Amino acid sequence: MLRVECIPVGRLLSNSYLLYDPELGDGIIIDAGDDAEKIIKIVDERGVEVKGIYLTHGHFDHVLGVRDLKEDLGCGFYIHEGDAAILSRAPADAKYFLDVEVDPPPEPDEWIFDGQILRVGDHNVRVIHTPGHTPGSVCYLAEEMIFTGDTLFAGSIGRTDLPGGSLQSLLSSISAKILSLPDHYAVYPGHGPSSTIGAEKMLNPFLRFMRDR
Ligand SMILES: [Zn+2]
Ligand SMILES: [Zn+2]
Repeated sequence: MLRVECIPVGRLLSNSYLLYDPELGDGIIIDAGDDAEKIIKIVDERGVEVKGIYLTHGHFDHVLGVRDLKEDLGCGFYIHEGDAAILSRAPADAKYFLDVEVDPPPEPDEWIFDGQILRVGDHNVRVIHTPGHTPGSVCYLAEEMIFTGDTLFAGSIGRTDLPGGSLQSLLSSISAKILSLPDHYAVYPGHGPSSTIGAEKMLNPFLRFMRDR
């Protein structure tokens, strides 16, 4: 079974996740919003060999830790091409939203794509393209867990008023590609606590229209 560690980082408390195979010791990092040191400490404590840094999307609050982390761990960095423009704007957005000066994120080693299968130790992780919050937003499906970035939160959904956002795409991504999963699957969002597919179907006020249909 894969194991998951949630590491909240940065001023916007973005969740960085360490997803790893405890038997083989391989893992990946999903999102790295800041605070590479804090993430590396947990990687070291768990004795994980990180094979890559995979982003759910390109907003600065999910990427600012990538440069240091990549340097320290010597692994690749991957994101969907639909967020290339957003990624390059990360320093400007960090300045605008947090009033901090940051280096630009490194160039991605490769673009990831819908349906791509990543290997984590002995296990498959599937990339699911879920545009809406941003054009290149993706979720990662690993066993009975889905990492939803800023697409779906416990009790809420991602904002769509930033450049490239689309509420219509967001809702259709959520209904077709996320809520179609079994109810007992765990949801690990980009901010805030975890949830389950069943709980979101039943309780998420932004998804009420799907229940009333
Ligand atoms: Zn975002
Ligand atoms: Zn975010």
